[in-house]
Amino acid sequence: MNRLTAWMTQSLRIFGRGYQDTFNVQVVNRHPDPESLSDQCIVVIRSGQLTKHLVFKCPAGCGENLLLSLDSNKNPHWQIQVDWLGRPTLFPSVRHNSSCGGHFWIRKGRILWCHD
Ligand SMILES: [Zn+2]
Repeated sequence: MNRLTAWMTQSLRIFGRGYQDTFNVQVVNRHPDPESLSDQCIVVIRSGQLTKHLVFKCPAGCGENLLLSLDSNKNPHWQIQVDWLGRPTLFPSVRHNSSCGGHFWIRKGRILWCHD
C-alpha cells in the first residue's frame, strides 16, 4: 500500500496539472547553496532536533530566495506542516516586502495569492 501510494504521489507530481505550482519539501542539516535552490521546493533547515529556518525561491517572479524563521522565539516566525502526500502548508502568509511585494499563502503545496 505504501509503495502504491508513493508511486501515485510521484505520478501525480510528474503528470498532474498542478505540477508547476506545487511545492514539495526537502529537509537538510545546513543552509543550502543559494544557487542550488530549485523552483517549487521548500528547504527546511534543521539543527539537531530543531527546525530553524526554511528557504525557498519567491514564487512571485522576482527569483530571490526567501529565508523564513521557524523559531517561535523570533518575530516574525512561521510554522510549516507537511501532510501525508508531502505537501507543505505555511502559516501565516508570506509577504515579500523588500522586493516584488508578492503576498501569498502556501496551502497543501499550492500557492494562494493575496491580491492586496
Ligand atoms: Zn519576490
